[in-house]
Amino acid sequence: AEPSGSLVDLLTDAARRFGPRVALDFYGATTSYAELADQVSRAAEALRRLGVGRGDRVALVLPNCPQHVVAFYAVLRLGAIVVEHNPLYTAEELAHQLTDHGARVAIVWDKVAPLVAGQAAVQTVVAVDLTGALPRLKRWALRLPLPKVRAARAAMTAPAPGASDWSALVAAVPPLPADHPGPGVDDVALLQYTGGTTGVPKGAILTHRNLRANAAQGRAWVPGLRDGEETVYAVLPLFHAYGLTLCLTFSVSIGATLVLFPRFDLDQVLDAVRRRPPTFLPAVPPIYQRLATAARERGVDLTSIRYAISGAMALPPATVDLWESVTGGLLVEGYGMTETSPITLGNPVAPTRRPGTVGVPFPSTEVRIVDPEEPTRDRAPGEAGELLVRGPQVFTGYWNRPEETAKVLLPGGWLRTGDIVTMDGDGFVTVVDRIKELIITGGFNVYPSEVEEALGRIPGVREAAAVGLPAASGGEDVVAVVVLDPGVGAEPESVRSACRQHLAGYKVPRRIVVVEDLPRSQIGKILRREVRDRLLAEE
Ligand code: ATP
Ligand code: MG
Repeated sequence: AEPSGSLVDLLTDAARRFGPRVALDFYGATTSYAELADQVSRAAEALRRLGVGRGDRVALVLPNCPQHVVAFYAVLRLGAIVVEHNPLYTAEELAHQLTDHGARVAIVWDKVAPLVAGQAAVQTVVAVDLTGALPRLKRWALRLPLPKVRAARAAMTAPAPGASDWSALVAAVPPLPADHPGPGVDDVALLQYTGGTTGVPKGAILTHRNLRANAAQGRAWVPGLRDGEETVYAVLPLFHAYGLTLCLTFSVSIGATLVLFPRFDLDQVLDAVRRRPPTFLPAVPPIYQRLATAARERGVDLTSIRYAISGAMALPPATVDLWESVTGGLLVEGYGMTETSPITLGNPVAPTRRPGTVGVPFPSTEVRIVDPEEPTRDRAPGEAGELLVRGPQVFTGYWNRPEETAKVLLPGGWLRTGDIVTMDGDGFVTVVDRIKELIITGGFNVYPSEVEEALGRIPGVREAAAVGLPAASGGEDVVAVVVLDPGVGAEPESVRSACRQHLAGYKVPRRIVVVEDLPRSQIGKILRREVRDRLLAEE
């Protein structure tokens, strides 16, 4: 159904229908839907008094916590635009994005307030004190980069100059008058930076319509969910498009209880399972693998989880088998991008599920597979090509980047995904790889994913990344970087010869480099770009 209201209307509806029901659970501290709506209204009033109005960008630099949710909806309530940031970003990464979008108000975890104060156009920093949860956050904070730890220490003794305290600010004001105009469905809700896997993150402009459409599409594809009865675990960060849409906006749209975790921590999640069993778990493959393995070893019951939705990276069929045998629920794979949120999902009620595929397009979503060199030319059925997508969830462009926008948004509303896919006769899509990461060697195209998949099947190889490095003869050489399992005794030469059994000669890596671990993005994707840069720097 075409959405008629904004994301804020979804929260208002949930508060009306499920007022006393727990909306948020943070280490056992709960907020009902009625309380959430009230806090959002007061927070909106506080922000209004700080001068926030329609179309203004407001920066959020927060881990998952109730204040994050309140701030998110309060900004939207004023018709303003939320911009999410990873609180583990360095000062430099933050400065880059703050300069790009020019927010004047920032709502930030107090530990990182010094990194935001005085940056770019920021005039007001509102600091969120998470001290109550800090013992639990400590282990997470230990992962902060060094300059951040120093900043954090400084912040503990001296608050950032001019920073005001979020809870004091919200407590001091009445609710926003009910007749204060809210956002329209075509107003911009979110400026969401892309994952930064292939380059500097770009700010994707998403409207209320985009995000509401997506919540409705998700609902249509997982019809077994019951309004007002589900418990969703947010182990994914809300500052990433995937966590924000699948955990937060989707949960609110079905009146679910959202259990917030500042990061995925196995012990904390298993503790919470005993206290408040989850029914729906959006996550990424390594999380399912670790959770199912630990639950089996420790005898923790995960059978409350009826649906698990995996995205962001390829889901190994072995993980599906393990998960489904441990939980008895379904693990289905979806595919999407910041620019669209989900595009496809393995439909849990479809008679056939096809592990290894990312399912079929959502309702009201059109797809085409075209020649990446000439994106007006469709591929023959079954042939690999670039996926184009059109639908109500497709974004309106990149902030401040008309050229980048023009490259991906084609006339007629088609978005170039930059991904090479195939589609079978029943519409099931298989993601092959990203166009940008294709390796061209001796005139042949090599998909790094194919090389990595072959490497992954070799005993002793835990993880692998394949990249192209400039070859002496022109073009590129395939080079693979691998993490080995200790004790198996695999070595670069043995790995290389084992590759020959799985891959045509031109795909076999010219060189195998052994490393301790692979660089990953904020949501856990292997960063081939960084692997490549490191190899180049070492040459
Ligand atoms: P950037 O655009 O900044 O380089 P990014 O593309 O990683 O970063 P996201 O928007 O978070 O940022 O990720 C979308 C991409 O993730 C898709 O274009 C696709 O390449 C990949 N992806 C998403 N889901 C899957 C999946 N199920 N299987 C394989 N790849 C996936
Ligand atoms: Mg991308």
